[in-house]
Amino acid sequence: MTARRTHIVGAGIAGLSAALAVTTDGGEAALYEAAPHPGGRCRTLHPADGFTHDNGTHVLFTANGRALDLLKTVGARERWIEPEPKGLPLYDGRTGEMRCVGLSPWSWLMPSRRPQGLTLPDLMRIVRLVFAAKECPVASIIGKRPIMDSLIEPLTVAVLNTPPEQASAQRLACALRQLIRPGAGRLLVARNGLSQDLIEPAVAALQARGMPVLNGQRLRTLLTANGRVIGLALSDRTVMLGPDDRVILALPPYEIERLLPALPVPTQFEPILNVHYRMKGLDRPRFIGFTGTLAQWALIRENHVSVTVSAADAVVDQNATDVAARIWREIMPALRFLGLDAQPDRQPETRVVKEKRATIRQAAETLPQPPLRPLANLALAGDWIGSLPATIESAVMAGEHAASILHHARGTRATLAKDRGLKTEDAA
Ligand SMILES: Cc1cc2nc3c(=O)[nH]c(=O)nc-3n(C[C@H](O)[C@H](O)[C@H](O)COP(=O)(O)OP(=O)(O)OC[C@H]3O[C@@H](n4cnc5c(N)ncnc54)[C@H](O)[C@@H]3O)c2cc1C
Repeated sequence: MTARRTHIVGAGIAGLSAALAVTTDGGEAALYEAAPHPGGRCRTLHPADGFTHDNGTHVLFTANGRALDLLKTVGARERWIEPEPKGLPLYDGRTGEMRCVGLSPWSWLMPSRRPQGLTLPDLMRIVRLVFAAKECPVASIIGKRPIMDSLIEPLTVAVLNTPPEQASAQRLACALRQLIRPGAGRLLVARNGLSQDLIEPAVAALQARGMPVLNGQRLRTLLTANGRVIGLALSDRTVMLGPDDRVILALPPYEIERLLPALPVPTQFEPILNVHYRMKGLDRPRFIGFTGTLAQWALIRENHVSVTVSAADAVVDQNATDVAARIWREIMPALRFLGLDAQPDRQPETRVVKEKRATIRQAAETLPQPPLRPLANLALAGDWIGSLPATIESAVMAGEHAASILHHARGTRATLAKDRGLKTEDAA
């Protein structure tokens, strides 16, 4: 009798999470990744010139319990640190003022931590947003008030990567209900970088469990018969499945659409623009928010500063050099507040990373969703599955859920009678 093996395709966070879940109790699994490295949209870039940086800054909150549990499982929880324990420095590009804002509503009891312009009617609107019963855009609940600029817009694009005029109030509400719990609103960043502090420890944990992670293996075609997957046509090999084998596709929706065209999937995406300036930074990371500027967030590391522009539709196709120069002028005064040597006429070496399909567009509408187990022995995972904001947390949850669905499902095994009649379909 052959052992049951779970074949996981896609080594982003969802695939790594699924692999960790499957192998927790000694389950056998293999992980196939198209790119030369695992990590997907959450990775560190290592160009030949030695200017190493993440594709884009990723933050976690202490509210993200499943992501933090995964970090603990792979021994990397201590690598994620809180850069701003006293509240988030917020630089207003119009007035040149630097304020400090608490991310947890409980900290707003202190006037010095309150978002600018917060009034009692605003609090009522925020409560309506947190308990949004009907789907509508975030902006339709908050309206055009100062709090939109100083809190709601930055929060919406950070969590949903979608402008508040379109963003789903109900998805944001899911995140806000987590964030308002006492102690849940602390912001964490990777101490050194995403690969070192998340992806590499996860891969090391899998390898310690004897699980192979095969990079450079793109799934070209699924071979199916009688409602089951029978084989995987990968870049340079075809893996035929045993009767007990299962498959988890931890892939973006456009790959699911290509592989299983009958399934409904979200088809609209939002970009994130990331600009990295190579310069002397600070020994311990710092994090600043911006209002009234194109720049939204900056993470200051030891040897570079990374700026994020989420929901970047308006600028993603503009000339990268011009955008980077504009952002440098915007952030420079704030960097000087923190003691960095930043001069208007000395823009450091710069790299722009455009993630055109950074996340699905999380608009106030019912997004197409496929069944989670579209074939008897196949489950789907990915940050875009379900109704939570598409983030590391939802990717971790989706990976674990896919593993659990297959574990508990009946009828994943091929019957002998059916096996004899198996035909290979669509072998590329
Ligand atoms: C710039 C940026 C900033 C972000 N900031 C944050 C943040 O601050 N906090 C947060 O929580 N989230 C953030 N996110 C979102 C977060 O990165 C994603 O939610 C998460 O990484 C998604 O993981 P995933 O495994 O679902 O998908 P992916 O990372 O897309 O993984 C899919 C994997 O499948 C591989 N693949 C694709 N096709 C095939 C194929 N045919 N065969 C084999 N392999 C294939 C891909 O190469 C990839 O490795 C950000 C994303 C970006 C881009």
